[in-house]
Amino acid sequence: MRTPTVIVDVSTVVRDRVDPGWHRMDALIDLWRREMDEKAIFYGVLDDASWYHLDDAGQAAFAAWQAAGRATRVRWADPLVCENAERYPHAKVLTSDLYRDLRRDFVWLQNSDRFYTFSFTPTGVSIERAEMGAIRDEDVSQYGEAASLKPKCLNTPEGRQMLRREWACTNPSCPSSQARAIADLPYNRNGKALCPDCRKELGDAGDAADTRELKVLIGGNDVAHIPLVAGSRIAIGRGGGEDRFDLRPLVGDQQTLVSRDHVAFRNLRGRILVSDLGSKNGSALVREDGQSDPIPADVEQRLELHEFVSIAGGLVQFRLSGKRYARGAYVPDRGTGVISSPTVLASPQSPA
Ligand SMILES: [Zn+2]
Repeated sequence: MRTPTVIVDVSTVVRDRVDPGWHRMDALIDLWRREMDEKAIFYGVLDDASWYHLDDAGQAAFAAWQAAGRATRVRWADPLVCENAERYPHAKVLTSDLYRDLRRDFVWLQNSDRFYTFSFTPTGVSIERAEMGAIRDEDVSQYGEAASLKPKCLNTPEGRQMLRREWACTNPSCPSSQARAIADLPYNRNGKALCPDCRKELGDAGDAADTRELKVLIGGNDVAHIPLVAGSRIAIGRGGGEDRFDLRPLVGDQQTLVSRDHVAFRNLRGRILVSDLGSKNGSALVREDGQSDPIPADVEQRLELHEFVSIAGGLVQFRLSGKRYARGAYVPDRGTGVISSPTVLASPQSPA
């Protein structure tokens, strides 16, 4: 196949409440060849649901594309559209979708100028560049999370109920049984929560509504996530151990800028409170408008979504994840030889 110059999310073209069908695809291709590129090579991605909505002629037209190696049919088209667009970086993308739930996996979607959208009117069709814009980090998490619920059947009323609990794996041969609560989402099978690792039934390990997740950023990169169940507190600095998060492996030779006890985060019924532990190089709470206030020693401040904590002059930042369903209990690195201290989680009936 020759390198495609236009990736088409065919599902978004052929679907329409009033006038669906393959003729929309034909009209769009005509217009593209006339106005954008006479020699354009199209590659189409279509989802199963849209394929079943095409009439015989439409299905035959799509089959001809497939036979020529110019199209693929999948259950969920969006990720494949983005994968193809990534694979062919000079291709444009023709779609009416903004792929908000894929911005975490395909970071280049933010502000991309490769996307074109279309509008059909009774008199014809027009094409224009799509304004992809950038979605805030916290919102990217939420959209991505919504998409991750569906394959696990968690987007149902009973699945959502499941998300309100913490779950523990009690299968001794499963790696997930090491943690007080699994960090990943469970599977919902007929109302039973199954382990994402071993698929055995999970045990209820307490209320998850107030669990929050702290993101650790270095140089703008998301390097670690720390789940904090309600009632737990974690000290951050140099050194591992119970209820401690060790920054040394992440900051390398700049570790001397971090105090042994630098800052602490506490989850008080779902609110995250931060305090400085008398650190040498200090910490600051940076508000949404950019205003930065030093965090005084041993006085707890509330950290809100869209704000962040910066320590040691910006060396490391901490943000709350925008995830609506943060979950799991923090387990310190096994290298420290200490397993997570008791938290408010009900104890799973783990044999060990
Ligand atoms: Zn398991």
